[in-house]
Amino acid sequence: MMSEMDDLLRALPKAELHVHLEGSVEPETLVELDRSLTVEGVRKHYVYNDFRGFLDTYKWVNGYLRTSADYALITRRLLERLAREGVVHAEINISAGVILWKRQDVDAMFEAVAEEAARHSVSTLFIFDAVRQFGVEAAWAVARHAAKWAGHGVAAFGIGGDELAIPLSAFQEVFDFAQSHGLRLVPHAGETGTADTVREAVKCGAHRIGHGIAAAQDPAVMNLLRERDTPLEVCISSNLCTGVVASLDQHPVRRLWDAGVPIVLNSDDPPMFHTTLLDEYRIAAKHFGFTPNELRRLAEDSLRYSFRAVDPTGPSGMV
Ligand SMILES: [Zn+2]
Repeated sequence: MMSEMDDLLRALPKAELHVHLEGSVEPETLVELDRSLTVEGVRKHYVYNDFRGFLDTYKWVNGYLRTSADYALITRRLLERLAREGVVHAEINISAGVILWKRQDVDAMFEAVAEEAARHSVSTLFIFDAVRQFGVEAAWAVARHAAKWAGHGVAAFGIGGDELAIPLSAFQEVFDFAQSHGLRLVPHAGETGTADTVREAVKCGAHRIGHGIAAAQDPAVMNLLRERDTPLEVCISSNLCTGVVASLDQHPVRRLWDAGVPIVLNSDDPPMFHTTLLDEYRIAAKHFGFTPNELRRLAEDSLRYSFRAVDPTGPSGMV
């Protein structure tokens, strides 16, 4: 029965719309990059008690990404895995804000990433992510680099990191600049924050919202998302691992779906949250009672809410 379900899920053409390149590094790949590490040692880092603990690990992994060849390698590993899961299209977040903070050449890194991505069957678009707690000036630098690549593989500008650090409204001019260069906006909001932060993201012009699960606390915000057809990129295992929800039972994915809020399922930082995109669909089926028809709709929606339709100029396009 379960293997029938697995076959169905794998065979569904689907898109992964919320996955961080630097959060997709398997322990084995990190060891490939630095032989002084061990797989066991890396696994110990991939366990946290809270959101800040996760951010520390994310930063730690970034410290081992030193050259454009490193970025190409982690791109290859991610796209190989996504292809095995039946993913036909991926929109991949790159922490451009972290690359700039490391004083590395973000354009050279992206060139290597895009070149590698073009070799794979999964079509790709990229999202340049700023880091919320690095502030507005640092976000400007990310947006300027993103604008340079707009229409050449980069489809959107996002903001991740600690959403409690600075309100999204402080970045409004950066959002407007990005949008005026043809970039879509995909901020993280309503992950550790309240329903109001989701409303704020909509006001800032978000085309999709990273996480946004706090919307379930406020029927008016759910209404707003429904009316504007703004999808939430829901990442169930991520929310559990960072302690944003206390247990699976408390996760609002089913409530959001039943209320007609547009959602897509995603894996966020899969090895860091001990998951895969297929696992997220399995959890929806097993724990939240999503029927095969509903799972099919989720997969269709993941393609429908992708930016492929508005920006088909990604660096790869075998599909
Ligand atoms: Zn994320």
